[in-house]
Amino acid sequence: MLYTSTRDNSIRVTAAQAIAKGISDEGGLFVPCEFPAFSLEKIGDMAAMSYIDRAKTVLKEYLTDFTEEELDYCVTGAYEASKFSSAKIAPTVNINANENVLELWHGPTCAFKDMALQLLPYLMTVSAKKTAEGKTIVILVATSGDTGKAALEGFKDVENTKILVFYPVDGVSPMQKLQMTTQEGSNVAVCAIKGNFDDAQSAVKAIFTNDEIKRELAAKNMMFSSANSINWGRLVPQIVYYFSAYCDLLEQGRIALGDEINVVVPTGNFGNILAGYYAKRMGLPIKKLVCASNSNNVLTDFLTSGEYNKNRQFYTTSSPSMDILISSNLERLLYHAAGDDDAYVRELMASLSDSGKYIVTEAVIDTIQAYFTAGCCDENAVYDTIKQHFDSFGYLSDTHTAVALKVYADYVNATGDDIPTVIDSTASPYKFSKSVLTAVNGGTTPLLDEFEMVDALFEKTGTAVPAPLQSLKNKAVLHSSVCDREHMSEMVFKLLNL
Ligand SMILES: *Cc1c(COP(=O)(O)O)cnc(C)c1O
Repeated sequence: MLYTSTRDNSIRVTAAQAIAKGISDEGGLFVPCEFPAFSLEKIGDMAAMSYIDRAKTVLKEYLTDFTEEELDYCVTGAYEASKFSSAKIAPTVNINANENVLELWHGPTCAFKDMALQLLPYLMTVSAKKTAEGKTIVILVATSGDTGKAALEGFKDVENTKILVFYPVDGVSPMQKLQMTTQEGSNVAVCAIKGNFDDAQSAVKAIFTNDEIKRELAAKNMMFSSANSINWGRLVPQIVYYFSAYCDLLEQGRIALGDEINVVVPTGNFGNILAGYYAKRMGLPIKKLVCASNSNNVLTDFLTSGEYNKNRQFYTTSSPSMDILISSNLERLLYHAAGDDDAYVRELMASLSDSGKYIVTEAVIDTIQAYFTAGCCDENAVYDTIKQHFDSFGYLSDTHTAVALKVYADYVNATGDDIPTVIDSTASPYKFSKSVLTAVNGGTTPLLDEFEMVDALFEKTGTAVPAPLQSLKNKAVLHSSVCDREHMSEMVFKLLNL
């Protein structure tokens, strides 16, 4: 399996090269040159397997330059049972009738990012050994909240790596902020930036592709890489759990082998749902991929009209990990939908950076709509949905998952298409205690501190409080730097002691 770039398809790199580099030199994203095909028989065989074996079965088709031993070391290390609060790692739970949630938040930081970021450090160190022996890899992360913590937790004290995380100062939940500012580890740094996630992501991308900065790092035997979902090593682990959810439904007798399912994904940077698209291209029987957005509904508009336009109001919502107007992984979908046309992608991305928008051809949007549909959900509906699901089915969801539950309900109402469906549940409700408590209380919350709210939510709902969140209460704040987005590159040098 070789990889090419969305902006220069003459490039050919191995998986290890794609993962160690993170982003292609000319700014494009690495994509697989083909999609490995999985027969129904092969998918059926995976049903009896553990999550670890399902993961190995999928990953070995993409990481063909990894030996069996290397892959085994990576996958068993990442999904070690002691790190997850569910023996199934990512359990598929039935809520009601054909509505099932895939709970992706049983890892150490209680958000779905762990599914990829527990594995990425293993993939990265093995890849670096193959392609950049002896170099220190500097992981730069822009986060809307959950990636930062999951990346810090994954990379802390990993040999030959350093990790620097930038988060929007007012754009994350109090629990997300505490998770990051209390992070321990000898190779970690965390800095708030004055700006939103898009500002942080654009600045990080600019640093990555700045030749002068890259040269300075190279002189110190360091190189940048990315733990954001622009890195192929972040995306590929996410393909696994779509196969795993399908296998769970088979095992539970909710579907027969070959039956189609729908998949609903609460979406921000378009990474999670793109992994679902890859699963479908590989032969997993997915009928529609439903892209669910909060009030920042740039993707809803794009997927319905073919026009992407980020020139619009930015909302800070109760689902901060989806407060994004530039969804970087859409570039990969555009490349595939345009028939691997790198010149066309360059044109669209130039238009996006010049004018903040682009319009795709009718053929491209038709191709995309054959796979995707989309909807969005405002703040009131988020609260109503959390309450309604808890009251009716005893299922407590976080704010991001609630966006998906609501968009799914709208989809079924509009289409009547109620085949068995998997809805990605992307965070523990306790990461967003204030909003979730307000919702289940029907619109009011007493004035409490973060941990009193966790206790109140527990008392109200009786759902388990994840141990990693509970333990934050007694941790010291270790990181308090704040900088302007214009000064991020200086901050990088400072944090690296250069
Ligand atoms: C990151 C995140 C999302 C959005 O996922 P993308 O891959 O960026 O689309 C949704 N929910 C939660 C809780 C997240 O952390």
